[in-house]
Amino acid sequence: MAIDLSVRGMALTLLGLRPIQKLLPPAVRGRGVIICLHSIGERQHGNGFAPMSGFRLRPSFLDGLLRSLRKASTPIVALRDVPAALSQPAGDPFVCFTFDDGYRDNWEIAWPIFRRWEAPFTVFLTTDFIDGTVPMCWSLLERCIASQDHFYLSDGERHWDWPTKAIEEKQACFAIVDELFRCSTRHVAQRLSADLRSRYGEDLWEAARLDALDWNNVREMAADPLVDIGAHSLSHPLLGQLDCVEALREIAGSKAVIEREIDRPVPHFAFPFGDDRAIGRDGVALACEAGFDVALTTRRDVLRASDVGRLHELPRITLDSRYETLAPVRAQLSGAPAAVKRLIRRRG
Ligand SMILES: [Zn+2]
Repeated sequence: MAIDLSVRGMALTLLGLRPIQKLLPPAVRGRGVIICLHSIGERQHGNGFAPMSGFRLRPSFLDGLLRSLRKASTPIVALRDVPAALSQPAGDPFVCFTFDDGYRDNWEIAWPIFRRWEAPFTVFLTTDFIDGTVPMCWSLLERCIASQDHFYLSDGERHWDWPTKAIEEKQACFAIVDELFRCSTRHVAQRLSADLRSRYGEDLWEAARLDALDWNNVREMAADPLVDIGAHSLSHPLLGQLDCVEALREIAGSKAVIEREIDRPVPHFAFPFGDDRAIGRDGVALACEAGFDVALTTRRDVLRASDVGRLHELPRITLDSRYETLAPVRAQLSGAPAAVKRLIRRRG
């Protein structure tokens, strides 16, 4: 494992040391933290083009993190218990685990690890991916761009092409097309996906589709008391870029699809992408209107007692491959990096 020698990396490592953490005031540590994860698996080092690999964490890291939390007797709570935990008088800060998007490895690799440690978690599903009507668009893009020296795309009205021979060209192309998918309505995203399927072949399309869970995987996990299933929109757009009718269809539609498939209420939602741009002006109100009890963002912060009054925009801390050692994770869970960021923003 490479040691992060950047100033940020060293600061996080220092903040992760237990003696330093004991000096932090309780207000910084908060009441708990909701962790946002995506994919669990070994990373493949192919030709160096793997823009999504940062969202994949190694199984041994996840196992080590759960072991360390259990060893420290840190409470690991289910998302359904977070509102009650926030309302209680202050106790030890808790940790709550969530997974976004619906990667198949959540069922295949992560679930057995959570079972080993008897730890609860929630999986948020983008239902078009689970239905198999379209693959995870970023998985499909990654595969198509990796395999091509020149990349063409059309939605029927607009046409694009980029040279994608060099790794820098592949990266630039991925960034542009990923943004194109993010800002598209569900209908346009489906057209783009169909265009990729016809241009680059069934095999790449099918391989990307298999990155997602299917409904049998979901129902199997939903039967486990350790697992909750939440909604994460129909097609994973930037909701803030859609009009209210379209955004509500994405939010409420995914809830209805999952409830039909698993035959139980789905009270939790996670905003796709989850930052301010993704939530938009109306996202929080729409999540309430769709009937969710709790909605999660990816605004990076720990939870405070006051968050009990803001259950439709709870912050989370996303762990990506930059945090694959325990010290920086402990630093993030301490709340100190978020507190420093708030301080800088206030002074700036
Ligand atoms: Zn997502």
